Amino acid sequence: MSAADFDSAQFYDGLVANRLIQPTGVDGAFGRGGVFEDVLERLNCLLDELAAQDRAEKMTFPPVMSRDVLEQVEYLESFPHLAGVVHSFEGDEAKARELTDRLKNKGKWGGLFEQTALALTPAACYPVYPSLAGTLPRGGRTISMTNWVFRNEPSKEPTRMQAFRVRELVRVGSQDEVVVWRDQWLQRGLRLMTSLRLPASTEVASDPFFGRGGRFLAANQRDLKLKFEILVPVISAKHPTACCSFNCHHDKFAQKFDIRTQDGAIANTACVGFGLERCVMALFQTHGFDPAKWPEEVRLMLWKRSAPLS
Ligand code: ZN
Repeated sequence: MSAADFDSAQFYDGLVANRLIQPTGVDGAFGRGGVFEDVLERLNCLLDELAAQDRAEKMTFPPVMSRDVLEQVEYLESFPHLAGVVHSFEGDEAKARELTDRLKNKGKWGGLFEQTALALTPAACYPVYPSLAGTLPRGGRTISMTNWVFRNEPSKEPTRMQAFRVRELVRVGSQDEVVVWRDQWLQRGLRLMTSLRLPASTEVASDPFFGRGGRFLAANQRDLKLKFEILVPVISAKHPTACCSFNCHHDKFAQKFDIRTQDGAIANTACVGFGLERCVMALFQTHGFDPAKWPEEVRLMLWKRSAPLS
């Protein structure tokens, strides 16, 4: 069976029918099957190899991060509609009884929970910046991570997930160093996607900033070419899906967390992110739901170190 040709609902149903994903009752929060995960891990291994060329340091963060840091990077001003923060019960026995009563009566109970020190991580690179505070070694640093991220955008469209993994690399150094690195990764990313026989293209892009003020921020981001994306048709030929992004932040994060280069100047940062599930869905859309039937060169790229699937 081949992947549905650009019909979002059919593509979703095909992913489910082939046990690549499992619905959980909440849009955008489906489970992943073994074959889906195998492709995702193999793709991430290819990114490991590319990251090793940069001698990137590996880090791993949980899917939650400090709410203070989220406030410091001003995420809530720019993307309040996408954020998720953690609330937990901190009441006494009387409050616990009230909670039980409300649950029994199917009443609203969220008000009995208090905001905690945690937020769901909305961008894979945010947790790393505070740890880079201080003076960088000569040549800066490069960090590599695979983190779960959350976006409050429930949708039946399979590429618009509420929780997904991003393979992200962060470069911190002088402005020249980070811009050259970001542009190099845009080319690397495009070569990788093309070698997987995906019909990829690149575009100047902007983030989904909230509201009227956000439109100005997005226009500014485009004018300064701060963000590029690699797009592949997954649910529409006309509106291809952004699978990877390549971003320069100037000194925004370095300023907030006091990250400095050897000469004492505030550093610059850049990040590149591969939306792993979106890349995997692009493979299923382009080559069909059964990896055993994918083009030989794609299978060699992904599974060259083990026996082919039977
Ligand atoms: Zn990032």
